[in-house]
Amino acid sequence: MERVILIKYGELTTKKGNRSFFVNTLKKNILYHLEDYNVKLVNDNSRMYIYFEDKELERIVSIINKIFGIHMYHIAYICDTNIESIYENCLNAIKNKEFKTFKVETKRSDKTFNYDSITFSKMLGGHILKNINDITVDVHNPDMLVQVEIRKDKTYIYLNNYKGIGGYPVGTQPKALLMLSGGIDSPVAGYLAMKRGIKIDAVYFEAIPHTSLDARNKVIDLVKKIVSYTDHINLHIVNFTRIQEEIYKNCDNNYAITIMRRMMYRIMEELCKKNKAYAIVNGESIGQVASQTLVSINVINNVTNIPVIRPVACLDKLEIIDIAKKIDTYEISILPFEDCCTVFVPKHPVINPELEQATSMENNFDYQKMIKEAVDSIYTIKIDKNYEKNSDFKNLL
Ligand code: ATP
Ligand code: MG
Repeated sequence: MERVILIKYGELTTKKGNRSFFVNTLKKNILYHLEDYNVKLVNDNSRMYIYFEDKELERIVSIINKIFGIHMYHIAYICDTNIESIYENCLNAIKNKEFKTFKVETKRSDKTFNYDSITFSKMLGGHILKNINDITVDVHNPDMLVQVEIRKDKTYIYLNNYKGIGGYPVGTQPKALLMLSGGIDSPVAGYLAMKRGIKIDAVYFEAIPHTSLDARNKVIDLVKKIVSYTDHINLHIVNFTRIQEEIYKNCDNNYAITIMRRMMYRIMEELCKKNKAYAIVNGESIGQVASQTLVSINVINNVTNIPVIRPVACLDKLEIIDIAKKIDTYEISILPFEDCCTVFVPKHPVINPELEQATSMENNFDYQKMIKEAVDSIYTIKIDKNYEKNSDFKNLL
């Protein structure tokens, strides 16, 4: 029996005028992710069909479970729209399944079909009862729900509703830059931003020799995980050593993190302009550490007018960890490599910093020049599903 993956658009269908843009983006994304498979994609305004080879189904399903914009899908048997064919295919579809009770639900978009939905459900139910022993109909809580969609050319029969990952197709929003450290929060923030359709590039601040190549490789490994939700991610690596050292020479220790983060935001703003990105995304979570109190966030955010999106701002750490485990970044994130924040952590970082204090300390050194140097010396690597660690890159330093 021929089968097809039948995708329903769900939330996408509320997009009215923009619908074809959303649908076309979804289609492009699916084709990209399945380019190594023998599939054919057909779509109309409300659904998409993926024709596949049976032996590839399992892999294909694991891939489409990671494509944003898919809210619900079915693996459906296809047959001709006539009673005999529907009867026969339906029996074939269910005959080896374990169930005691069942219900038939028919949707009929082909109004020329001779029977209305309710009548046909009863007819098909009767046919099933006649041919399979020891089962009964239960319309309230059936073990098996047999769904039949009768359309003009073809009829689709399916026994399960699979929940997709939801969200909007990546690329329906323009680019944002994700501040990606090696921690737990920022990969989750990147995942959640992509879920809203945002394309992301990642930015990693390193302070070699205070931070190691292992720390950088950890960030690369994180990108390799989250790239499976999009086509590619450019990872921009910022040499932050000089700025970091100057901060510790010239500013009060308890303001070091506040000022360091203001420098990061300034660099992010430059990078947004350079890369045509419309927002900064990061893993800040309200109250988690001293630099993430609302007062701190005000003083830090004060250096930029670009919107800063904080997808995990209001999540508990345990909720963030749950998502990190789901997207398989957790085990990488907990590897114990220092990142540039942790290397210089002051004993008593200020919880309620004052803007005037921060600006006056910053003016102790020529940070603008250093920011320009950092932006000009950025190293970018493109990571996509075919990315293999580049040994030249590893030996760069
Ligand atoms: P994470 O678990 O993601 O490291 P965190 O709880 O450790 O976050 P901070 O170290 O204060 O929090 O950083 C807050 C956010 O700032 C991070 O989630 C990340 O988005 C960004 N960030 C911090 N350090 C770096 C870095 N070295 N490179 C890029 N972004 C960074
Ligand atoms: Mg961290």
